[in-house]
Amino acid sequence: MHNITVIPGDGIGKEVMEASILVLDALDIDFNYKIAPAGCKCFKKTGTTIPEETVKLTKKSDATLFGAVTTVPHRKSAIITLRKELDLYANIRPVKSYPGVKSLYDDLDFVIVRENTEGLYTGIEEETEEGATALNVVTRKASERICRFAFEYAKKTGRSKVTAVHKANVLKKTDGLFKETFYKMAEDFGGIETDDHYVDAAAMFFITNPHMFDVIVTTNLFGDILSDEGAGLVGGLGLAPSSNIGDNNALFEPVHGSGPDIAGKGIANPSAMIISSIMMLDYLKEHDAARVTENALKNVLIEGKVLTPDFGGNASTMEMAQEIRSKII
Ligand code: NAD
Repeated sequence: MHNITVIPGDGIGKEVMEASILVLDALDIDFNYKIAPAGCKCFKKTGTTIPEETVKLTKKSDATLFGAVTTVPHRKSAIITLRKELDLYANIRPVKSYPGVKSLYDDLDFVIVRENTEGLYTGIEEETEEGATALNVVTRKASERICRFAFEYAKKTGRSKVTAVHKANVLKKTDGLFKETFYKMAEDFGGIETDDHYVDAAAMFFITNPHMFDVIVTTNLFGDILSDEGAGLVGGLGLAPSSNIGDNNALFEPVHGSGPDIAGKGIANPSAMIISSIMMLDYLKEHDAARVTENALKNVLIEGKVLTPDFGGNASTMEMAQEIRSKII
């Protein structure tokens, strides 16, 4: 039995979550789901974007599934709060091609490991006479653990190279520390090739030569931006999953947001949420179920008959999920 906190959130977050649960329920695994509120609708109802009970529940669970939330201006972000409260310091964002999906590249398979707790996402901002400032926090501790995580991830998953992405030429102290920590950490991982790139160059190489990447480790903001660029290489946000991993907890979510332009139409692509659920299955050591689900998704993509509009089809979110489910049962 796995205890799973389910946070559907807002807009298409709720829609892709329903689709994902439909698929997970076809597996021969006992899940005990607890649905918890967060996001914009929750704020309108309760005055908070993330109730304390939701945070408590995620801490007690074996894993959390998170759909997506609509941002409430000037209020704390539900997802950033969870990342901080659960100390989910590593955000893993695979850039992986899937068969049958029209994309710029059909043979990519690399992973972005994004530092998830600090950088420019600490939310420490200040209004000044001239305008405003934001604090870019880079600590030795957080840099060490994210770099160690990236090297260990590479070792565990049989990958051969780790690339640090930073802007140490301009952010000499903060990103300078990140880069220095990366190369120090590399000394503990002898067999793994290393290199590093400035983020602007890396952004170009994503387009011109993405095969050069295997595992990328980077700071919070650069990881956020590059992972959307990575999604664009392999078929768009509908296909981009992520996991947020800490020492005691883990949360799985699509890279996309609440999709206000398509919310309520039932046409959101459920794949990113479903692949995030597959990452959860692997985290829970349900590897056979993960592969069965992944193959079901791949088969639906290859057949190309029941796809959402962003993939050129005319199926609804739930029709596509139902089709994936039918390949499992
Ligand atoms: P978005 O990811 O919601 O949408 C960007 C574009 O991609 C839209 O055109 C949307 O229709 C499309 N898209 C996204 N997911 C799709 C899917 N599954 N299938 C088909 N098309 C899809 O980003 P946005 O519009 O910039 O943000 C909307 C809201 O979501 C904002 O309030 C933003 O702050 C929030 N947001 C939340 C999260 C999160 O909860 N983790 C992440 C990103 C954005």
